[in-house]
Amino acid sequence: MKKPIYLDYAATTPVDPDVAQAMCGCLTMDGVFANPASRSHIYGWQAEEQVETARGEVADLLSCDSREVVWTSGATESNNLALKGVFEKAGYRGHLITSLAEHKAVIDPAKWLAEKGVEVTWLQPDASGLVALEQVKAALRPDTRLVSLMHVNNETGSVTPVAEIGEFCREVSEGRPHEVLFHVDAAQSVGKLPVDVNQLQVDLLSLSAHKFYGPKGVGALYVRRKIQPLLAPIMHGGGHERGMRSGTLPTHQLVGMGAAARLSRERLTDEMPRIALLRDQLWAGIADLPGVRRNGSADLVSPIHLNVCFSGLDGEALQLSLRELAVSSGSACTSASIEPSYVLKAMGLSDADAHSSIRFSLGRFTSRDDVEMAVVHIRNVVLQLQSG
Ligand SMILES: *Cc1c(COP(=O)(O)O)cnc(C)c1O
Repeated sequence: MKKPIYLDYAATTPVDPDVAQAMCGCLTMDGVFANPASRSHIYGWQAEEQVETARGEVADLLSCDSREVVWTSGATESNNLALKGVFEKAGYRGHLITSLAEHKAVIDPAKWLAEKGVEVTWLQPDASGLVALEQVKAALRPDTRLVSLMHVNNETGSVTPVAEIGEFCREVSEGRPHEVLFHVDAAQSVGKLPVDVNQLQVDLLSLSAHKFYGPKGVGALYVRRKIQPLLAPIMHGGGHERGMRSGTLPTHQLVGMGAAARLSRERLTDEMPRIALLRDQLWAGIADLPGVRRNGSADLVSPIHLNVCFSGLDGEALQLSLRELAVSSGSACTSASIEPSYVLKAMGLSDADAHSSIRFSLGRFTSRDDVEMAVVHIRNVVLQLQSG
């Protein structure tokens, strides 16, 4: 059977062959398999060296210091550590600002914190899926301890003005008894847009290897050095990662993430415009179809995302008919249920329009041929469903 064209890179990416090769060197007896925390033999020293090299690659990708990279199991854990870690340290007192367009891996920890007594303000994205600095300003309170917003929305690709909000959080922190910390879920932007933690002025930043051609099950939280004392661990054990996250480090996973980070840094300036051009060709090929609209911002958007509302068509039926394409309706995390996307609904789409929306996301291995075939297929399916 011929497999469908993969246009679901926002859900996950395949591991780059170079990354897979690096990982294979860290599994078996003749590879670098050991526990990086083993101090008494060369196996451990070699593993530690490779893990630290990988940490340096991730630090280079984010323009931070290696000592600011905390390994985790992925962006879900990084988000949990950021939100719970800050408020655990603060005795579950104070105020959190976040948005209704966040990934569930921020929304659910925020709800959990609300049950513990933290007061949460939920910002509403505008019609293009964006949260503005003005909204953060208006929501700020004397007891605000954390602002948590995503860099790129996983469903629409809309890009939050992170640097402006970061600058604002730093300014208002001066003269306060406690800082207003700024956390950014950057799982959808790392490797797709430039992410420089100093330029963005963030304190905490989550990333996930499997969104940029690394393996699943590994990620990191950037924790600015100065605020490390303000973060409590949520995983207790051997005191790894300077006490912020215990657990034996998975050498092969981290080496894979490091290799993926290096490839992303090397290729970003070529890859971004190439993929954006293909995405624009995909949109140009279907934009004239009756009832078709683009969801989210057309300007402030990641290079890989295209979220389209096929008004009047049922999303499930559409996805079933688009057999030659691997795409997503809503996000991978919510498509197990038939609930329409809460992100699109927060942007003001009706249930029906949210149901009729499809996310296309492109990546490193998407070709011009893929896009041309996708356009023909989408046109056929839509015209067929509309006439039927
Ligand atoms: C994929 C994703 C996550 C979850 O990352 P995992 O590493 O799979 O846990 C969190 N936030 C956003 C925005 C994502 O796209």
